Amino acid sequence: MESQGKLIIFSAPSGSGKTTIVKQLLQVFPQFEFSISATSRQPRGEEQNGVDYFFLSQEEFRAKVAEDAFVEWEEVYNGTCYGTLKSEMQRIWAKGNVIIFDVDVMGGINLKRIFGESACSIFIMPPSIEELRNRLEGRGTDSAETIEKRVAKADFEISKAPEFDHVVINDKLDVAVNEAQTIINKFLA
Ligand code: ADP
Repeated sequence: MESQGKLIIFSAPSGSGKTTIVKQLLQVFPQFEFSISATSRQPRGEEQNGVDYFFLSQEEFRAKVAEDAFVEWEEVYNGTCYGTLKSEMQRIWAKGNVIIFDVDVMGGINLKRIFGESACSIFIMPPSIEELRNRLEGRGTDSAETIEKRVAKADFEISKAPEFDHVVINDKLDVAVNEAQTIINKFLA
């Protein structure tokens, strides 16, 4: 892609506290901007098109794949596709901003592979699987069945942590945020 800037990738098992940490970092680094992913799934709850995701139909998603509009894309759960649009990254870099990715573990690994030294990939690690489950239950956004699915997936996701540039354990939130801040400052320097 032309006019390549920098990007920071956050991945974690669901419930690790990734979203919480990224939100705090966005307050510290005004030049950070979220890359909005495209998905073929339906919006949930309050989710808005162009804010949380670009919501595409299966057909629209496939058409974009065919015209090579994605940097990377994958089928995450049965039939549901997620991907990063080249146009979205160009939009952020054109403003001179740093792109923040909040993506699943395989998406994070793919992006790092594609962008190499331009990318800093950070894995947010829960202190334990029990604590991960506690947080998912405490968050109150998922059904018991969904929580089980997320927890079941966590072992596999944690096994991929060594493929990231950095691993930050999110035990105490303020410690984790500080650690991430130090990593990012070094990367941007
Ligand atoms: P993710 O984006 O990784 O799925 P969230 O940021 O939604 O995770 O966090 C999951 C839940 O855990 C939320 O209810 C959040 O408030 C809580 N949480 C996040 N970090 C911590 C922490 N260090 N200690 C305790 N609870 C936390």
